[in-house]
Amino acid sequence: MIELKQVSRRYRQGDNLVVALDRVNLGIAAGEFVAITGESGSGKSTLLHLLGGLDRPDEGEIWVDGVAVGSASEKELTKYRREKLGIVFQFFNLLPTLTVLENVALPLQLQGQRLHRAEARARELLDLVDLAKRAGHFTFQLSGGEMQRAAVARALAHRPRLLLADEPTGNLDEVNAGRIMALFGAIDQQRLATLVVVTHSPEVAAQARRVVRLRNGRIEADVAGKGQGHGRRPPVVADDDSTSIGHPVHG
Ligand code: ADP
Repeated sequence: MIELKQVSRRYRQGDNLVVALDRVNLGIAAGEFVAITGESGSGKSTLLHLLGGLDRPDEGEIWVDGVAVGSASEKELTKYRREKLGIVFQFFNLLPTLTVLENVALPLQLQGQRLHRAEARARELLDLVDLAKRAGHFTFQLSGGEMQRAAVARALAHRPRLLLADEPTGNLDEVNAGRIMALFGAIDQQRLATLVVVTHSPEVAAQARRVVRLRNGRIEADVAGKGQGHGRRPPVVADDDSTSIGHPVHG
C-alpha cells in the first residue's frame, strides 16, 4: 500500500546541507503495523511528514494507496489527507472550544456528513477508546491520556486507510502510554487501519509487528517486531472483540 522509491530529503541549515533521508526504499503492505525508530535526528519525522503529504521529497517517489503523494497537487493532497489519512501527533491538537464528541465528529462534518450520522460514528469511536463517558466534556477537562485517546478516535473517524502517529506516547506517563499502546494493538487486531508509528520508545516499538530503524537518513534495520502474532495476520475478527479495548491489559 505504501511504497517509497529512492526517496531523499535534504534541508539547508545555514551553509550546510543536511541529508534527512538518503535514497530510502521502503514498502509497507495494507494492514501492517510498523514502528519507525532511530535516534533523534535520524529522519523519523521527515519520513512521517512525507507519508502524510506535509512535506515533499527532493528526489524519489512516494505512493500511498494509489496516490503519488510526493508529487501530487495541493488539491490532491488535501483530498488524500481528508479521505485516506489519519494523523496522531504528540500534542493532541484537539480544539478546546469543542466537546470531545464534537472534536471526533468534526472530520466527518468536514467531509459533508450530516451531524447525527457524524456523531453516531463519533460515539462508536469513543467506545473504542473507552471515552464514552467523556463525550460531553470539553477537551481541556481531560487528562493527557484521555486527550490522546480522543485524538486517536478523531484520527480514525473517517475510516482512514493509513494511521500515522508521531511519538504518540511522548507526553504521557507509563500507565497512559500503556493504554495508548494497547489501543494501537486493538486497532491492529481489528484491522481498522495500516499503522505507521514513529517512536523512540522501545515499549511502543515492541507493540508493532515490524520495526524499521533509521540511522542518518537510511534504513539501518527492518525486522519483525514482537507485536501480537509476531508478524502473522490474525484471522478477521468480529467486533465482539471490542471488550478488550475498554480494559487494556498493561505490561
Ligand atoms: P528525527 O525525527 O528522527 O529526530 P528528523 O526527521 O526530525 O529526525 O530530522 C532529520 C535531520 O533533518 C536532522 O538533522 C534535522 O536537524 C534535519 N531537519 C529536519 N527538519 C528540518 C527543517 N525543517 N529544516 C532544517 N533541517 C531539518
